[in-house]
Amino acid sequence: MTLSSDFSSTTQPAFYTPKKLNQSPIHLPGTGCLIRPQVCLANFTSYRVGGLAQWYAEPQNWQGLQETFEWFQSQDLPLTLLGAGSNLLVSDRGVPGLVISTRRLRHSQFDPETGQITAGAGEPIARLAWKAAKRGWRGIEWAVGIPGTVGGGVVMNAGAHHQCVADRLVSALVLSPDGEIEELKPEDLGYDYRTSNLQGDDRLVIQATFQLQPGATRTEVMATTNQNLKQRQSSQPYHLPSCGSVFRNPKPHAAGWLIEQIGLKGYQIGGAQVAHRHANFILNCDSATADDIFRLIRYIQEQVEYHWSLLLEPEVILLGEF
Ligand SMILES: Cc1cc2nc3c(=O)[nH]c(=O)nc-3n(C[C@H](O)[C@H](O)[C@H](O)COP(=O)(O)OP(=O)(O)OC[C@H]3O[C@@H](n4cnc5c(N)ncnc54)[C@H](O)[C@@H]3O)c2cc1C
Repeated sequence: MTLSSDFSSTTQPAFYTPKKLNQSPIHLPGTGCLIRPQVCLANFTSYRVGGLAQWYAEPQNWQGLQETFEWFQSQDLPLTLLGAGSNLLVSDRGVPGLVISTRRLRHSQFDPETGQITAGAGEPIARLAWKAAKRGWRGIEWAVGIPGTVGGGVVMNAGAHHQCVADRLVSALVLSPDGEIEELKPEDLGYDYRTSNLQGDDRLVIQATFQLQPGATRTEVMATTNQNLKQRQSSQPYHLPSCGSVFRNPKPHAAGWLIEQIGLKGYQIGGAQVAHRHANFILNCDSATADDIFRLIRYIQEQVEYHWSLLLEPEVILLGEF
């Protein structure tokens, strides 16, 4: 099966077939960073599916990141960037080349003079929302139910409750594989609904700065944040692995409504099921494979096209070959 253009996908060659290689981890001296061969990506995605990364690194700081990029430059390999893996479907056949995860690049800094927060790529965006709420800073209460990182949020233009990253982003620092660091403004990022021009790009978001509004009380902002979380938990299935909404909403319609109306709630292929609580979620409810999920995505697309004459565009990003 080949991918059609309606999927956001990387431009990686073929798929990765693990060979019996005598590969050992590569230590990057002085950085504490290790580049490990054949690491299972299922552990690093919210779907809990997916095969092996040919090489995998989790740099802990900028130096580790830059040296990992230098190693990458010296090899003839494709590159894949990973945040919390909460919007990804990784092929059962794995991902060739080097996968760099930002999960250890966590930090955040609040500037009371400007009302801006600067956070590392790997900082969970929900944790940032709680930190802001505890200080009585308004502006990202909507992010509390999003299980991704700041970097993934910048790339996906993550959003909820009618607000999104593009509304708050002041700038993002990005590192290119050739080692160049650039500061990008929202207008450089081609933002639209759940898209940016960083998708499918080799540039890595290192950190991002957001404009917030200090001055409210902790009680007020915590209340809104708690309310947002409760609303999400009551309307969306958080109890089983998923990637959140699978399809972009084809405005003015909601993808979940279109799917629900044609009776697909509860429909299952292998271990993958259309959620009863929210039809735009596919759950890994019984040891699903990535292939089960992919086949269910395709089935939903076919059925929606047949009944509604609309092609649902996936929001989830596919890595590797399907
Ligand atoms: C239960 C659940 C609920 C969700 N609810 C929402 C919601 O309300 N709103 C919403 O918008 N999304 C939602 N999502 C989807 C997901 O959390 C967001 O898309 C999130 O922004 C993805 O961040 P991530 O760190 O997991 O990115 P990943 O899934 O790891 O990656 C997503 C894309 O960003 C790229 N990327 C990641 N980090 C970087 C980086 N530092 N630099 C460059 N590229 C990078 C990856 O290569 C990939 O192309 C939900 C997901 C789940 C599981």
